[in-house]
Amino acid sequence: MYYYRHILFTLLVSGCLTLTSYAAHIVVLGSHDREEVQRQIQFYADLFAFDSTVSLLVTFTKDIPQNLAAFTQFQEASGSKQIHIKIHKYTSPSEVGITLAHEMVHARQFVQQDLQHKGGNFYEWKGKDFTNIKKIPYRQRGWEQEALQQAHRLYYQYKKQKRQDVLIAGKVK
Ligand SMILES: [Zn+2]
Repeated sequence: MYYYRHILFTLLVSGCLTLTSYAAHIVVLGSHDREEVQRQIQFYADLFAFDSTVSLLVTFTKDIPQNLAAFTQFQEASGSKQIHIKIHKYTSPSEVGITLAHEMVHARQFVQQDLQHKGGNFYEWKGKDFTNIKKIPYRQRGWEQEALQQAHRLYYQYKKQKRQDVLIAGKVK
């Protein structure tokens, strides 16, 4: 009996681990529409195949450097990849979607090590060193060009998926 229960317990535990091992951990703070933000971040995380080694924290805050709508920080410690997206609390609802898509492109660049922060203003982009990114205009930075190019398409993909989900939910009812 003990043996049987032990097997059952092992199965349950491994079942749980399997369920979570593919999904990134996502936490959203300070948003008026947390569920929607969570759904959107989840969509991009799945699209980019982020696994359980990736944690995403999305904070809506007034504590953001001047002239910035949002920014993304990345940290890796003992195999765990932590992404913190900060987005200005007063970003208009119509802009939140595209801003999140843009920052999630940066998240992917960090996770896939296309973009690496070497400290201070020193970054590495696709194997090339940029010792002082402040000297490069925003729109000439490779990672920004990529984010600017991809954000609209990603957000469109998300909205299309959401419409399909609504249609399916409608049919079930
Ligand atoms: Zn950017």
